[in-house]
Amino acid sequence: MELDAVSIEQKDQQDQLAHLRQHFSLPEGVIYLDGNSLGALPSNVSAVLQNAVEEQWGQSLIKGWNCHNWIDLPSRVGNRIAKLVGADEGTLICADSTSLNVFKVLATAIKLRPDRKVILSDTGNFPTDLYMAQGLKELVSDEIELRLVAPEDVEDALDETVAVMMITEVDYRTGRKHDMKALTQKAHSVGALALWDLCHSAGAFPVHLKEAKADFAVGCSYKYLNGGPGAPAFVYVAPKHQGSSGNPLTGWMGHNAPFAFDLGYAPSVKTDQMRVGTPQVLAMTALNAALDVFDHTTLEALQAKSIELSELFISEIQRRCPGLELASPTDPLKRGSQVSFSHEHGYPIMQALIDRGVIGDFRAPNIIRFGFAPLYLSFADVLKAAEIIEEVIAGNLWDKPQYHQKSKVT
Ligand SMILES: *Cc1c(COP(=O)(O)O)cnc(C)c1O
Repeated sequence: MELDAVSIEQKDQQDQLAHLRQHFSLPEGVIYLDGNSLGALPSNVSAVLQNAVEEQWGQSLIKGWNCHNWIDLPSRVGNRIAKLVGADEGTLICADSTSLNVFKVLATAIKLRPDRKVILSDTGNFPTDLYMAQGLKELVSDEIELRLVAPEDVEDALDETVAVMMITEVDYRTGRKHDMKALTQKAHSVGALALWDLCHSAGAFPVHLKEAKADFAVGCSYKYLNGGPGAPAFVYVAPKHQGSSGNPLTGWMGHNAPFAFDLGYAPSVKTDQMRVGTPQVLAMTALNAALDVFDHTTLEALQAKSIELSELFISEIQRRCPGLELASPTDPLKRGSQVSFSHEHGYPIMQALIDRGVIGDFRAPNIIRFGFAPLYLSFADVLKAAEIIEEVIAGNLWDKPQYHQKSKVT
């Protein structure tokens, strides 16, 4: 498939989702292919935040907890995210960071399987998930074993020693996507629980937590959900586990009656048991506004466009840049909304691209990663990005000292 500028223009004209771009403020001259790391700014967020600061906080002061219902933001925002990941109302809350939520949920899962000690995960998982499991293991004096296998071996590694399978649906480097339904079913068949990390799934394509019978899920909201830098994460607890609390971070907001100020802890029997302390009102308010754009489309439509964008990108790059090796699955249904290539000079190549307004990112050791957020990307963006990538690689424009200098965040 080779498309010229005219047929690309036609594709953009026929694109049913093109109008969604108006909901975002993006800088001129930038092709933003990093919405999988930090989503773009939805245009309504600034005014909503300004109101939350000046009117709500400034004028209502402490009354805001009741009159603006700040106290229920975790469940109000959670219920909106629940709809995007196939979960029922009341089963998902917005809280803390993904890392913290992994810890809370892992400890809960382990408690539900007292006769087992294995947390099973794969080597494609995002390191923080694995680090949190390691921290939990240290805390309980090695009564836990973290067992890591290659991503393709997870299914075979599920056996009766596994207490909980902790899997990230989409691999942050390659975009490879696990089969949530099949793995959860296998986990349950050996008596294990299933914890899914949806960081690279939520807001990118349909997720069916309830249908897949997932036990727990976590995810962040600053990637495809566009909640803003450091936006609070979410945590899902299947209805059947709601009564059996195991959250070891027993803060007052997870208590069944926080304002009774009892001296002893008694967990909420709802998903609120995953709450810890006071919610981040301003950050959750920004996220709540950012979610509005999802009221104007469906995840099925977003996925369909994401597939078209990424297939176009792959074919253009493969034609123009034979030195870049595709690191993502070729079957679009087996990857998330990102496309990665490997190249030994991936780091300076990405810096040269960013310098020219094509923003993706680099993941060690050699992956250059491009995210396709269908809410705000056009087919013309993809073609233009491919042209710039070709220029940078064919002309060795990346080979300059300033592009080799590593920043703290890559
Ligand atoms: C982005 C990401 C995280 C981030 O965790 P934080 O606690 O928000 O820093 C965790 N897990 C996965 C799989 C991710 O992709």
